[in-house]
This record gives sequence, structure tokens and C-alpha cells, in this order.
Amino acid sequence: MKILDIIVPVLDEEDLIEAFYYEVLKTFDGKNLDLEIHFIFVDDGSKDKTLEKIKDLIFLDKKVFFISFSRNFGKEAAILAGLKKATGDLLVIMDVDMQDPPDLLFEMVKILENEKIDAILTARKDRKGEPIIKSFFSNCFYFVCNLFSNFKLKPGTRDFCMMKKHYKEALLLLNEKKRFLKLIFPFLGFNVKYLEYNNKNRISGTSKWSIYKLIFYAIDGIIGESTIFSIFPFFIMSGCFAIFLAIFFYLLFQYFYFHTINQILILFEIFIFLFGMNFFILGIFGQYINRIFIEVRNRPHFIIKEEN
Ligand code: UDP
Ligand code: MG
Repeated sequence: MKILDIIVPVLDEEDLIEAFYYEVLKTFDGKNLDLEIHFIFVDDGSKDKTLEKIKDLIFLDKKVFFISFSRNFGKEAAILAGLKKATGDLLVIMDVDMQDPPDLLFEMVKILENEKIDAILTARKDRKGEPIIKSFFSNCFYFVCNLFSNFKLKPGTRDFCMMKKHYKEALLLLNEKKRFLKLIFPFLGFNVKYLEYNNKNRISGTSKWSIYKLIFYAIDGIIGESTIFSIFPFFIMSGCFAIFLAIFFYLLFQYFYFHTINQILILFEIFIFLFGMNFFILGIFGQYINRIFIEVRNRPHFIIKEEN
């Protein structure tokens, strides 16, 4: 019998653990699948009774597993820990608050069983019910990401996904410390299919992401994915060079035509030259730091899909 691991990062979600567990089991009820459902709850340093609620479930069902962090390390860390613990043939990553609809799970399993697909990713079709400010920042994030990154990210992409074991193994080849799952998906390649669904609100509790936390998370993602910013000093340097040349020719013209020279402009010319040189040197440093970043991040050179 195949195993489906359901990885659920949780932070202070005492009211939702049980509801989530039963809701997931309900979606597979009577579906006659040759599948054993395992739950892997990753308690990301909850301060409420979340861990007790998980342990209550373990008492009832031996197919419930947990990891509990010593403090809050963030959702990405919780997902990573869950992926490392999972051994199943299929895996799902999903939130506990039902914003990732459990009723999609059955359809996802069917697609992975019947089609040559390695992973199913999901995206929200809309953002109804979400605070406007959060939607605004999210849209900015996708715009900037797609502008600067080599890989295109579908707006509204969620962490909610189901994958086969080999896709998970590929995911774990990426061992970078600052992880951003949504941006790792496009790097991995493989055959993936997107499922889209309408936004759902949390059934209980509040979001664990403040706007402040989200902005820093987004900046981390963009900086981590795109090294294009390291060439920005060269843009500024080019601007300085253009101004330098314009002033230079103007001064020549002034000198030969009017036999005079504007001393303030000469000073400004020296200033713009030195300013440009600074950015030239910063650009060179940027390029070396970029190389160091790529080496330290140590992503695999390639990921093999098949070989004989
Ligand atoms: N979560 C977590 N660690 C965190 C923040 C959130 O494990 O530091 C969990 C949370 O319990 C939930 C999921 O990640 O199961 C998504 O969080 P939330 O619903 O607060 O995010 P939103 O849906 O508002 O983006
Ligand atoms: Mg949520």
C-alpha cells in the first residue's frame, strides 16, 4: 500500500488541529484508494495547546507523527523538517487553517496516479477576503519577482502542493539556509501541473504573518532568487560616465569657441568622475559577492529526471 504524507506546519493553532485531521480523513472517506494517510505535524514553537492537541491525535491514530521545534523558526523551516521526516510515496504540504482546501486532495492523488506529472502546484484565482494591503504587497512581490528572476512564478502560487517522492528528493538537494519554497519550484523543473482555486478564509484564528513579517519574507525571496541587483552599481556608473562625457564635450566646446572655461563645471566633472569610480569598484565587488553567494548557496548543477 502506498503512503501519502501530509506535512502540516503549525504555529499556535490549537483550535484547528482536530478539525483539520477529521476534514482531511473525510475527503478520502469511501474513496477506495490504495493509500495510507500519514500526518506529519510540525509544531513551529507554539505557545498554546497545539502540541497537546497533536499528541491527543497520536493517542488515537498511530499514523499521526509530529516534530516540535524548540522555538518559532518559521514556516519554511517547518516545511523542510516535515519533508526530511516524510518517507511516503506521495507528499502534500498544506496549511492547517483550511485555506488549502482538503477537498482538492483526492483530485490531486488521482492526477498523480494517472498522469505523467511529478508534482501538482496550486495557485489562488483571487484574493477575496484578504486585507487590501496584504494583496497589494503580494501583487508587488509577484511583479518584482517576475521582472528580475530567470524563472517565472505564477501569481497567487501557494505552498500547498502534492508531489511524488523523487520530486521531494530533488527539493531536498537544495540545502540553502534562506529557503523560499515557491521560488524553488520553478528551479526544479519536472512536469508540474497547476490547480487553481478560489481564495478561502481561515476557518478560525488569525494569520500568523504580519505585514512586517511578509515584507521581509518577500525581500528575502527576491534577493535570494535574483542576483541581478549586483549589477546595479554598473548602471549608476554608466549614468555617471554619460554625464562625465557630456560635460567634457561641453567644456571642450566652451574652450575652443568662447576661449573660456567654467571652473565650477570642472569641479563638478572631477566630482562625477570620482563618484563614477566608486560605483565601478562597488560593481566589481558586487560581482565577486555574487559569485560567493552562488558558491555558498551550492545549488545542484543539474537535476536528473530519468537515466538508464
Ligand atoms: N505557520 C508556521 N510558522 C509560522 C507561521 C505560520 O508554521 O511562523 C503555519 C500556520 O500555523 C499555518 C500555515 O503556516 O498552518 C500558514 O500560516 P497562516 O495561515 O498564518 O498564513 P496566511 O495563510 O495568512 O498566509
Ligand atoms: Mg492561512
